[in-house]
Amino acid sequence: MGRSLVLGRIAGIKILVHWTFLLLLGWIVISGVSKGNDTPTIINTVVFVLSIFVCVLLHELGHSLTAKRYGVDTKKITLLPIGGVASLERIPEDPRQELWVAVAGPAVNVVIALLLFPFIQTDQLFINEETAGIASTAGFLNSLFRINVALVVFNIIPAFPMDGGRILRALLAMRMGRMRATQIAANLGQFLALGFVFFGLTSGNPILILIGIFVYFGARTENVMVQHLELLKDYTVQSAMITNFVTLSPADSVKDAADKLLSGSDQDLIVVDNGQAIGIMTRSLIINSLRENRAGEAVTEIMERNFDTVAISDRLTEVYANAQRKKNAFFPVVEGNRLIGVIDMNNIQEFVMIRSALSYG
Ligand SMILES: [Zn+2]
Repeated sequence: MGRSLVLGRIAGIKILVHWTFLLLLGWIVISGVSKGNDTPTIINTVVFVLSIFVCVLLHELGHSLTAKRYGVDTKKITLLPIGGVASLERIPEDPRQELWVAVAGPAVNVVIALLLFPFIQTDQLFINEETAGIASTAGFLNSLFRINVALVVFNIIPAFPMDGGRILRALLAMRMGRMRATQIAANLGQFLALGFVFFGLTSGNPILILIGIFVYFGARTENVMVQHLELLKDYTVQSAMITNFVTLSPADSVKDAADKLLSGSDQDLIVVDNGQAIGIMTRSLIINSLRENRAGEAVTEIMERNFDTVAISDRLTEVYANAQRKKNAFFPVVEGNRLIGVIDMNNIQEFVMIRSALSYG
């Protein structure tokens, strides 16, 4: 999704701003200038947009800090022009915890709105933004109040995986189990997402279209993940690992590795010394080394020495969750110190397909 700028850390959580957000600020300035607005008006607009994003950031911190209370860390919070995303390490599986984590975000905006309430002019609250303007302090606070109310209303629409959808899933999961609850919430989420796109198109609102697309695919991804975890939950690595795989010895050269890469379907080759995995030659390492004219060098000079392994008795659900967080998930399976197999995302997905074919057969 491109680059983000690190703003800093709050409570140990990395705060990032996506580059497109800077594009948005640039666009505000340029369109202000082209409309012939004076500098104070343009600065005012920029300050207003930044204030909205502070409210969005506080909303995300609401989720993150509540999750932290349940032992779930947040890797980062990213601010995008269409809103914020708190990347939690995992979604709490206990529906009550998920409920509170989801509620905490909109609750922050309720608090902000309540704090602003004494300073706003209620008689002007519903005047069109264009005419009320943000030039005066009162207009500014009125608009900020309205934005926070809108953030609450919009976020509690039950379009999973938006907050309202998570609240719905958590409430359903208390009654019928997480898999069925996710299915229902995700179906409703996808239906509402299509509605967002439709209204976005008819009203010419590109942000609503983007959010609709986000929600649609988000719902699908999470639904698939939960269904997979359900199918995997009774199995360990032993059931899905590959035992028939190609290895390299420390004496092999990069050229040997390239030959083995070509002759088989394995993409990552494990370098094995005395039955122990000591490194991994990934396809890209092999290709890059050839490009750098290092074909004659030993694989031990090039191989990746830092890699995660899994044990044969590890639960597949855990490996699946770990694999999803990485780009190139490939794990040697070890027992004691000995290499006995390999497992990657393809394996797990094949295993899921076979299980689901059997369970509906
Ligand atoms: Zn939220």
